[in-house]
Amino acid sequence: MSAICPSCSWPSPTVVSAHGTIRYLRCVCGRWLISESGAVIAAAGDSSLAEPVADIA
Ligand SMILES: [Zn+2]
Repeated sequence: MSAICPSCSWPSPTVVSAHGTIRYLRCVCGRWLISESGAVIAAAGDSSLAEPVADIA
């Protein structure tokens, strides 16, 4: 179960921390990703503090 970076499409960002089904990952491009149950729900990085990339509601 891995997340794909929305910025550079890197298929296996490094998991830095996990809390339940939430995982915090760091991509090779420098972005931070937040995933839940394998789906990326948010990304934070160079340009903005937090930027939603998918609507899971
Ligand atoms: Zn990336």
